[in-house]
Amino acid sequence: MAFAGRRRTERLQTLALLLRAVPIGEADLVVTFFTEERGLLAALARGARRSAKRFVGLEPMHLLRLALDERPGAELGVLSEASIEHPRLHLTSNLARLEAAGRALRWVRDIAPAHTAEPEVWRELNRLLDELDEAPRRGPAEADAPALPPDAALVTTGLRLLGAFGWGLDLSRCVSCGRACAQGTSALADPARGGLVCRACGGGRLLLRAELRERLAAIAEGGEGTIPLDDLRTAFDLVEGALTAHASGR
Ligand SMILES: [Zn+2]
Repeated sequence: MAFAGRRRTERLQTLALLLRAVPIGEADLVVTFFTEERGLLAALARGARRSAKRFVGLEPMHLLRLALDERPGAELGVLSEASIEHPRLHLTSNLARLEAAGRALRWVRDIAPAHTAEPEVWRELNRLLDELDEAPRRGPAEADAPALPPDAALVTTGLRLLGAFGWGLDLSRCVSCGRACAQGTSALADPARGGLVCRACGGGRLLLRAELRERLAAIAEGGEGTIPLDDLRTAFDLVEGALTAHASGR
């Protein structure tokens, strides 16, 4: 019967990142994942709190492989298997890196549309987590020192996530009147409005030095570039402010 056919559950197999786990009832968890195949989705993990062995892979930061059953129209899938496909143990043993990675995962959790594959976001998020997982390159005495400040890596990812979601910052012209910003000049930016806002249009709360503005634009385009340490705070405020402006409040 067609009606029965529509209600059949479908097995989804996908790589995934764990974004959140919320206890429900006596023994279960509602887990939110960002998946390669289906973007953001939530599933019920039955018995996950009764036995840690039930889903050994249910940990954040590592690349996970999942199998879950989805019924068309149902809000929650049912998790049937979870395993760690690729562990990220350097990342999970360093607090600064964990905080940076956690922030990026929250951005995606708050912004990504449900049940929509986002290949660019998937790639960028995993690229960041792999970068934060790189073994320290210095001597054993500095084993905790990351290869680069985690916040710099986070700014790069934030800029690219904005582009991937279609909200790329405009760092070359005023978002209000469209007037181009002359090369080599500093400019005011309003993250919530998506880029530069010239003084005639009210300006913005962040002052971007010319060099920073150009580096941010290059990174957003996918290029390499480092953000001067002195500018990191401003760059982070810009990216965080722009991403937060698009958060749904989930
Ligand atoms: Zn303007």
